[in-house]
Amino acid sequence: MMSFSKKVDRIEESQTIAITSLAKKLRSEGKNIISLSAGEPDFPTPENIKQAAIKAIENNFTKYTQNEGIPELREAVADKFRRENGLKVEASNILISSGGKHSIFNALQAICDPGDEVIIPAPYWVSFPEMVKLADGVPVILKTTEASGFTFDAQDVERLVTARTKAIIINTPSNPTGAVISEESLRGIAALARKRGFYIISDEIYEKIIYDGNKHFSVGSISEAGDHVITASGVSKAYSMTGWRIGFLAAGHEVISRAAKIQSQVTSNASSVSQAAALEALRGTQTEIEKMRVAFQNRRDILFARLSGIKGLTLSKPGGAFYFFPSIKGLVGKRHGGRILKNSADVAEFILAEAQVALVPGTAFGSEDHIRISYAYSEKELTEAATRIEESISRLK
Ligand code: GLU
Repeated sequence: MMSFSKKVDRIEESQTIAITSLAKKLRSEGKNIISLSAGEPDFPTPENIKQAAIKAIENNFTKYTQNEGIPELREAVADKFRRENGLKVEASNILISSGGKHSIFNALQAICDPGDEVIIPAPYWVSFPEMVKLADGVPVILKTTEASGFTFDAQDVERLVTARTKAIIINTPSNPTGAVISEESLRGIAALARKRGFYIISDEIYEKIIYDGNKHFSVGSISEAGDHVITASGVSKAYSMTGWRIGFLAAGHEVISRAAKIQSQVTSNASSVSQAAALEALRGTQTEIEKMRVAFQNRRDILFARLSGIKGLTLSKPGGAFYFFPSIKGLVGKRHGGRILKNSADVAEFILAEAQVALVPGTAFGSEDHIRISYAYSEKELTEAATRIEESISRLK
C-alpha cells in the first residue's frame, strides 16, 4: 500500500522556515514585505572568512573530509570551548555537522530510545519538540512565564523528572524569549542531572549575542556535571554564517562516537568549503563579532522603545539573542472588519496582511499569547516595521 510514515505525520513543519519562505514569495510577487521572521543576522559574512572559502575552492579542497570534521577544525572548536566556555574537551570530543540543528538532531538520535522523555522549557525553539519526536522520544514541556522572565531553576525541572527522563534541552540565551538562564540555576540543574541520571543538551548558539555586560555561562564547565552535558553551538549566528551550515557538538566520547555513526549514514561530513570557512572564523580576527553584538544591542534598544509604546503589546528587554517575544493578550478580542483576533496566529496573520510585516506566531514556540519579532535587521527596516505595526494595530476596534 502507498502510505506515509506515522512519524512524519506526527511532526509539524518548521514555522520559522515556512513564514520566512512565505515572506520571500510575497516579496518576489512585488509586495513590499518587511520580514522580521527569521533569526538570521543581516550582516555579510566577514571578508576574511569568505576569502578562506575562496582559497579552499581554488586549492581543490572540495572532496569528502573525515566524517567527524577536519582535524584542524575539531581542534579549533575544542580550543574555543576550552578557552571561552571552560569545557574540558579535546578534538576527539567534537563532532562537526551541517548546522546547529543537525548537531542537536544527531545528539537526540544518539541518546533517545522510544518513549524516553526529554524536558523542554517553553517557550522553546520551534524545532526542539519535533526533533525529540523524530528520535522517538516524548517532549515534556516545562512552562515558564513572563513573571520569571521566562527562566527556570532546578526545582521547576525536578517536578517533571521521571524514571523515563533522558534529557533536558536548555537554550541560553533563548530563542524566542532572549532569556538568559543564571549560573546558579544551571548549577542546580547540573546537580539534578547528575543525581537523577539524565543529559543536559545545552544549545549555546547565541552565546556571543548577549547584552548589558552579562557573561555567557556554559553548563558544561561545571566539572561535576562531567559527561552529562552535551554542548551544541556553531558559527551561524556569531559570525553571520547561516547559509554555510556548520554546527558543532562537544560531548563525552560515548555520545560523540554514536552521533558520528549516525552522521556517517546520513550526510557524512559537513561541506568541506564551509569547514575551511569555519576554521578561519574561529582562528582569524574576532573584531566583527563585537561590532555585530553592539549593533544588535542598539537595534534592541531602538525597537524596544518603539514597541513598548504600542498599546496592546507587552514586552520586556531580552538579555540575549535577537528576538522580542511580546505578549499579544491585549489584542485578543479586538476586531478588524468582520474578524475577531483570537490568538497569536490571528495577530501574526493580521500584521502580515495589514502592515506587510512578517512575524512568527508564538504557537510555533509553545505559546498562544505571544508573537516573535526578530531584530536581526537594519535599523531602517526595524523603524519602518514598527511604524507599520503601530498604524495597523491602531486601526483595531
Ligand atoms: N533559528 C532561526 C530561527 O529561529 C533560523 C530558522 C530556523 O532554523 O528555525 O529563526
